Amino acid sequence: MSTSTDNGVTTSTASSGSPGSTTGADGTALSADRPLALAAASGIDRAAHHRMDEAWLAAAWSHPTTRVFVVSGGQALVDDTPDGRTELVMTPSFEAPLTETHRYFLGRDDDGVSYFALQKDTLPGRMDQSARPAGLREAGLLLSPRDAGLMVHAVALENWQRLHRFCSRCGERTVIAAAGHIRRCQACGAEHYPRTDPAVIMLVTDEQDRALLGRQVHWPEGRFSTLAGFVEPGESIEQSVAREVFEEAGVVVGDVEYVASQPWPFPSSLMLGFMARATSSEINVDGEEIEEARWFSREDLTAAFASGEVLPPYGISIAARLIELWYGKPLPKPNRAV
Ligand SMILES: [Zn+2]
Repeated sequence: MSTSTDNGVTTSTASSGSPGSTTGADGTALSADRPLALAAASGIDRAAHHRMDEAWLAAAWSHPTTRVFVVSGGQALVDDTPDGRTELVMTPSFEAPLTETHRYFLGRDDDGVSYFALQKDTLPGRMDQSARPAGLREAGLLLSPRDAGLMVHAVALENWQRLHRFCSRCGERTVIAAAGHIRRCQACGAEHYPRTDPAVIMLVTDEQDRALLGRQVHWPEGRFSTLAGFVEPGESIEQSVAREVFEEAGVVVGDVEYVASQPWPFPSSLMLGFMARATSSEINVDGEEIEEARWFSREDLTAAFASGEVLPPYGISIAARLIELWYGKPLPKPNRAV
């Protein structure tokens, strides 16, 4: 069985910090003027040492400056401000719904404001006409790094909590602890921590400095992107990059250079982004996950964008940023989101 995400991560198993100063090989800053979505410095101190302190948490919750938002099914309410920004809809805790909710402590900002998320089955009613539900794929492009960071933290916790209600050791029910960051088994005492699945995503270039882009079988026509895949047990990330590229495109990879990472809670991945250098050029796609892969020079890609043969990548994924890093200038805006 094969599973995949729209970040291009595929796996054929049966079951299945801030990059702000990252500099590309050509000396250009990867994200000097545009932080990588979901991965920018959020200005929030997670203050993990407070998570087990119920008295401290109770005081923080009831403090008048504390801000709370609801997360439900990967969505939160966002609202547009008069000056054109988009913000998470947050309320003081005394206005927040509390019945039968999971409460996650997300951290504090430099002003000492504490932030909590409440996980509920549904989002609260819209507070005004412009407030609307949004998932991370939309919100990640619109929100400030602070709000995007808060939301990605809350969504990742929600995904984990939803899927880990039972103890993987003894099968009994688990209960929430540590302000949302632990689930504890009341039968055997095991503590379960949020899991993160590492995945590698890489732009492969050859000795002519062409980039290898591939198409997944289920993608819309014209969409090409970087190759990607999950790290397997007992495997280094460098080995994973080489294995995935060979499995999907038949290309052999030599040197691998880490670029940046991006939380990808769909539902629980961490994308580790790389530039990789190919030592072979013949392409032999697997036909199952990747139906086509091609080497593009910068001129090829510019022409393919112009003709519409290849759709410019769009969205929050680090894939677009890796391609841009190689391309050497901003990618054209797509006519439609894909
Ligand atoms: Zn147990």
